[in-house]
Amino acid sequence: MPELPEVEIVRRGLEQHVVGRTIDEVQPLHPRALRRHLAGPGDFAAALRGRQVSGARRRGKYLWLPVGDDALLAHLGMSGQMLVGDPARPLSPHVRVRITFTDSGPDLRFSDQRTFGHLSLAAGGAVLPAPIAHIAPDPLETAFDLAAVTARIRGRRTGIKRALLDQSLVSGIGNIYADEALWRARLHWARESQMLRPGQVAALFASVREVFAESLSAGGTTFDRLYVNVNGQSGYYERSLAVYGRAGLPCPRCGAPVRRDPFMNRSAFSCPRCQPRPRVRP
Ligand SMILES: [Zn+2]
Repeated sequence: MPELPEVEIVRRGLEQHVVGRTIDEVQPLHPRALRRHLAGPGDFAAALRGRQVSGARRRGKYLWLPVGDDALLAHLGMSGQMLVGDPARPLSPHVRVRITFTDSGPDLRFSDQRTFGHLSLAAGGAVLPAPIAHIAPDPLETAFDLAAVTARIRGRRTGIKRALLDQSLVSGIGNIYADEALWRARLHWARESQMLRPGQVAALFASVREVFAESLSAGGTTFDRLYVNVNGQSGYYERSLAVYGRAGLPCPRCGAPVRRDPFMNRSAFSCPRCQPRPRVRP
């Protein structure tokens, strides 16, 4: 599942290759990719024809391309890819929507093997599409307010990892980067949010930003070659992960074997020495 750095890399690719160009044709190739566009694939295609893309924006794991006052809104789901390339190249069977431009240059293909991703047109959504207005700003946005988020986190009676994954508190952080940031900040995933000092929350978000920045410079993380940038290349940040997916391997800081605990039907990876379990309160 792509997380914020992977989606940001796709956004940068779209900014470089698509912004300023005018859409010629939109070919819906699989209706499931447009299930969130309730007026149907034909309406989606007609609404985008002839529109100029004026930007490439992101909040959390959502991307949008403003077209006039409206926006082409996209979520990559588990395996979605935005691919830019020679319009004459063969069409892979996983391409769900193909968009060509009036300049006859590289086309844009939304490819999605597992079909959890989706595209839609958000009317009036150029600044912030209504379907994602409830999603909190992510830690890389200027709208992210550390003091307000800290207060909200410290008001929750929940484990800190659960709070980090709550997209209504802060968006864009998934399982991989939550585990990596908690390891850097030396916090166990089950530490109660309410019991953290403001300085500990600030240090945790500094770790989140560090992990994101390092992943961005490595082109993101991929485990199954499904996440790629707009040129079809995958990143290599998984080689730098300290704890995620490394159960039994040595902690890069202290050498203790990384521990894996069950967590919300998935796993939490941590160092038993650097991130001691919280004491159970009597
Ligand atoms: Zn350690």
